[in-house]
Amino acid sequence: MTAASWVQLGYLLVAVCFILALKGLSSPQHARRGNLIGAVGAVLACVIVFFSAPLDHLLPIMIAIAIGTAIGVVGAYRVKMTAMPQLVALFNGVGGGAAAIVALVELRTLTASGAAVIDLIATVFTILIGSISFAGSIVTFLKLQEWMTTRPVIFLGYPIVYVACLLAAIGTAVGVVLAPSVGVGSLLALLGLALGVLLVLPVGGADVPIVISLLNAFTGLSVAATGYVFQNLLLLVAGTLVGAAGTLLTILMARAMGRSLISTLFGALRGGSTLGSTKLSDRPVKSAQPGDVAMMLGYAGRVIIVPGYGLAVAQAQHTLQQLVEVLQQRGTRVDYAIHPVAGRMPGHMNVLLAEAQVPYPQLKEMTEINGDFAQTDVVLVVGANDVVNPAAETDPAAPIYGMPILKVADAKQVIFMKRSMRPGFAGIENELLYAPTTSLLFGDAKDTMAKLLTEVKAL
Ligand code: NDP
Repeated sequence: MTAASWVQLGYLLVAVCFILALKGLSSPQHARRGNLIGAVGAVLACVIVFFSAPLDHLLPIMIAIAIGTAIGVVGAYRVKMTAMPQLVALFNGVGGGAAAIVALVELRTLTASGAAVIDLIATVFTILIGSISFAGSIVTFLKLQEWMTTRPVIFLGYPIVYVACLLAAIGTAVGVVLAPSVGVGSLLALLGLALGVLLVLPVGGADVPIVISLLNAFTGLSVAATGYVFQNLLLLVAGTLVGAAGTLLTILMARAMGRSLISTLFGALRGGSTLGSTKLSDRPVKSAQPGDVAMMLGYAGRVIIVPGYGLAVAQAQHTLQQLVEVLQQRGTRVDYAIHPVAGRMPGHMNVLLAEAQVPYPQLKEMTEINGDFAQTDVVLVVGANDVVNPAAETDPAAPIYGMPILKVADAKQVIFMKRSMRPGFAGIENELLYAPTTSLLFGDAKDTMAKLLTEVKAL
């Protein structure tokens, strides 16, 4: 067998690793193994490429690999679990940006050699979509990191600027195909960057999960197009897998949020309908002490826990599960209600609660449990906000309007565990906090949960 055949065989093995990784990641039981198989595939891919490709600039390549590895390893070790979505957004953007740069460099070769139109189309596609993905992911990162507002950002004349950029990008892309040049290709990349920013700026906090998935699909598709241009099986397979998985996730996320992709991305063009109200009121709320809440929970027949992003921030999942076990020993039926976009990444709550050894059957999907709230004595909302906000059903001006929510308001009593009156990621007021059946247990969820546990044990 020739060296080239070994390389192709290696690529095939890597492709199988990636497919098995995706399969493993589809269930929490096998996710760890899936992740490991994917990582092994990625390392194998790098090794094969390194030893099989003719490398002219070995020193800069080695330096780039060393810097990339150091950033990746240190970043992954040091990042907090709650900051993982930002890290993923950043990695995704870097993938798209790398594909765009590779395509720009390749454009020089194609320009010199009089390339086939189809190759030029694939190159132009990679430059544009890769740049959109890079810039869009950076804005997503800033929103997730809360270094910029998580609310929709729309400036005067936004629709005109957006449409002008879009038309200019399409015109420039056609121009590069008809008369290939690196200069015009670079202009296309700049337009792609502008489009990426404009695409994500007006997306409200609650819709960010849909955009993350879409940008992920964009990166996959741009990498697949690079694979086509280079006739590289590995890039083609890996890009297609990421593109397909990202597209499916986008559709599922949009469905879970009751959104159409078009209205999420282009709703802002119709005007400020996604802005909602920014004003937070200073009306009084009913606050409770751990002892009061312990009484409510300890004598309830049915309790539902609604975990959210704040649970992950506080790292209170272990104490929460201890509380649930004590309540169960007292004869209370307790379930967890899981909203599809609770937290900051798909499956965030499932991962968090799996860490605390919560039995999987105790986690109920939103559609499965929503009918049960009306027969529930107490709902304990731990660090969740947007996913229970009734504005999604009642306020057409709210950025989360139309998103299905957990129908917590139907329960007899609702307890919110949070630190302040600050809103959730979507940045809007939650009327449920002022409802007569709601009590607020203020404080960091880890501290208050520990106090609550002590009080319930003492009953
Ligand atoms: P939210 O962001 O709506 O609310 C979190 C709540 O937790 C806040 O009210 C905050 O209030 C409270 N909190 C934060 N830290 C603590 C702490 N240490 N102790 C106690 N409470 C705390 O979270 P949800 O899970 O309800 O909703 C998720 C939101 O994120 C949705 O808008 C969703 O669309 C969006 N999103 C989801 C993604 C996904 O894939 N799942 C990805 C990107 C965005 P306070 O500050 O007063 O304590």
